[in-house]
Amino acid sequence: MLKNLNLTRAVEGLKNKDFKATELLESVIDRIEERNNRINAFITVVDFDNLKKKASEADKKIATGDYPILSGIPFGVKDAICTKGIRSTGAAKILDNYKAPYSATVVKKIEDNGAIMVGKQNCDSFGHGASNEQSMYGLVRNPIDESRVAGGSSGGSAAAVADNQCIFSVAEDTGGSIRQPASFCGVVGLRPSYGRNSRYGIMPMASSLDTVGPIAKSVEDIAVLMEIMAGRDEKDATTVNEPVPNYSKEINKSIKNLKIGIPKEYMELDGLDSEVEKIMNSKIKELEELGVQIQSVSLPHTKYAIPTYYILVPSEDSSNLGRLDGIRYGVRVDGNELYDIYAGSRAAGFPAEVKRRIIIGTYSLSAGYYDAYYRKAQKVRTLISRDFEEVFKKVDVLLTSTSPFPAFKIGEKVDDILQMYTADAFVAPAALAGLPALSVPGGLTKDNLPVGLQIIGPRMGEAQVLNVGNKICFNNADIQIIRIYG
Ligand code: GLN
Repeated sequence: MLKNLNLTRAVEGLKNKDFKATELLESVIDRIEERNNRINAFITVVDFDNLKKKASEADKKIATGDYPILSGIPFGVKDAICTKGIRSTGAAKILDNYKAPYSATVVKKIEDNGAIMVGKQNCDSFGHGASNEQSMYGLVRNPIDESRVAGGSSGGSAAAVADNQCIFSVAEDTGGSIRQPASFCGVVGLRPSYGRNSRYGIMPMASSLDTVGPIAKSVEDIAVLMEIMAGRDEKDATTVNEPVPNYSKEINKSIKNLKIGIPKEYMELDGLDSEVEKIMNSKIKELEELGVQIQSVSLPHTKYAIPTYYILVPSEDSSNLGRLDGIRYGVRVDGNELYDIYAGSRAAGFPAEVKRRIIIGTYSLSAGYYDAYYRKAQKVRTLISRDFEEVFKKVDVLLTSTSPFPAFKIGEKVDDILQMYTADAFVAPAALAGLPALSVPGGLTKDNLPVGLQIIGPRMGEAQVLNVGNKICFNNADIQIIRIYG
């Protein structure tokens, strides 16, 4: 059962010589072999002999007593993140044969600390989606209930952790892609502040919102990973030069007298599932018992977040995806004219949702419509950010549910694109404002589906966000039991 360990326990076990890195790796690989056919969390799995070699090297290092903290820990990476020498498709056929010549800074940092990457994880193509049904490599099933979606876009990354096919994942969150699948699969996921972690080597989606963060089995795991991932990177000018806190220490501080705001727009949303609401309310009670001051607050522009997000993101998407033309990267569909090569490669290489975004984005950036759509959306984005600034003058963090509902059925929303977009109602606002936000399992519905709770903090306020998350995270053991027997 080594694969069931969280990161913190796995690190401890290796240190205490309870088991070897080779055994831990084998347990994880057996699980992938047993389950990937069904869950489809991995697009590419690294060659086992290669992995075994790395694990034996880790064992040798661990035996010396002087080794980096993540030595021998198996992890996975979302396929929209570049990894040197290992295929990175972004879950789109246009990059079916693409091997990046370098690894993303965050992946490099994790590997430099000894962790072993076992494979590349399925996702909605280039991060476009909220259910992981928009991958050209097939959908991802939720390991807790296989008739349901894993969430998106980092569905493979969340499902792999929940299903014990790796100890943790590195994923990307532009507008919820870490938090929403984490909430659907009953694991923990952090979207860091914009600028906290380097985006170098991430396939860009909407560059002014994209962030990279960890998905793991506990808040303490996330704290350890953020200490490694965070910080200034010369290769990404948007990273900030601020010291990285000792998150592992911060998450054990008392939260007595802390002020937590409950945004009323989230609680009053039409379509908020009644069981999700119940779990929120019981968590609020628990927090009051811990001496936290709960306040109802208002973020008046919340209802504009989805329309704003779905103008700005497709606009940036359409521009960023221009580089994928069949000439410079990946798969080419030949044609007589240059135009035919572009059009043929893009038609065959992108799924429907990516094409939809390119069309919407190109339209809203075009000369005649720029002011009416793109510029207006930028202005509303500022109003949304100001809502948060105002509220953080009164409270330390905000608590909401991560999603209005638990994981939905496969196929339920895929043909109703507006329904799919509203799935992001609670995750898009913090993303537009560049704020850190964490999803932790908050409880289970009657049908044993996990419900994620979201803690949103002020810019660079990850430490407090993680601290609160650590206090409210649903008993990990309960989720673990469902994962194994549910
Ligand atoms: N559901 C969001 C979208 O489709 C998620 C994007 C993301 O965070 N990568 O745009």
